[in-house]
Amino acid sequence: MNKYVVGVDLGGTKISTALADFEGNVLSQSIIPTNAHEGEERVLERIIKSIQSVMSEGDATLEDIKAIGIGSPGPLDSKKGIIITTPNLPFNNFNLVKPLKEKFNVPVFLDNDANVAAIGEYMLGAGKGKKNMVYFTVSTGVGGGAIVDGNICRGNTSNALEIGHTTVSPFGPRCNCGNIGCLEALSSGTAIGKRGQEAVNSKVETSLKKYDKVTSYEVFKEAANGDEVAKDIIDNALTFLGIGIANAISIFDPEMIVIGGGVSKAGDIVFEKVREVVKKRCFKAMAESCQIVPAGLGTDAGVVGAVALALLELDK
Ligand SMILES: [Zn+2]
Repeated sequence: MNKYVVGVDLGGTKISTALADFEGNVLSQSIIPTNAHEGEERVLERIIKSIQSVMSEGDATLEDIKAIGIGSPGPLDSKKGIIITTPNLPFNNFNLVKPLKEKFNVPVFLDNDANVAAIGEYMLGAGKGKKNMVYFTVSTGVGGGAIVDGNICRGNTSNALEIGHTTVSPFGPRCNCGNIGCLEALSSGTAIGKRGQEAVNSKVETSLKKYDKVTSYEVFKEAANGDEVAKDIIDNALTFLGIGIANAISIFDPEMIVIGGGVSKAGDIVFEKVREVVKKRCFKAMAESCQIVPAGLGTDAGVVGAVALALLELDK
């Protein structure tokens, strides 16, 4: 009785669902296409089906399930269980929690995917055992989540830790959100690729010119091969990332910063630069007591995070 939780990672292209025990061990998993174009009711039906499918595969009855956790792109209102609007999903002020609660008769928790990833790292990943931890995801965008004294920091409107849209340079460039000088516009994978493409289109000499299309991957690669232009682009982007992280350390005084997302996969170059900037910009005591480490969860981070969300909320 009541021995499992279900996690649902709702994405624009796929719905990934898992049945897990209270230690977070995944017992059965389902991945199905979201088919977002079919509209909100059909996507809701598919979520229900995926939950039923992991339950039957894991031989779990309704009585065995203690809670459901859902991670979704935001913006959303986690208190009300409403997905407000999101570019790749059909939801528009849609209450996702209510129909699932009614269907399965268990508590259902919804949070944005960056918070869910942060909770996943805190409960089951690199941050296990820490009480104060800030998670950064650096890929096409920059997002994050903060665990403060063992709890996720959501803020008034559930949008706390929109860290990618904190201003780190008053002089630009303009971000997709409309603001100037956001961390995301300076240090995301997209930003690095854009700077690389700008270099290709300029008169400077760079080995990046041998590529038809330049993304952050090529910029990291050519930087590692010694191309000065690529090295500058990477150094600049990582300096701003370091500033964003130093700011988070000064605000939250965490035991650990966990960095995930595609850019973090570049490895040592990222972590060494970030640590160097943090050392320069934070109080010594805080900088020295804060580990800066790569994310511990792999490709299943989204759904494992959703499992962790259910476990964290149940634990309260
Ligand atoms: Zn922005």
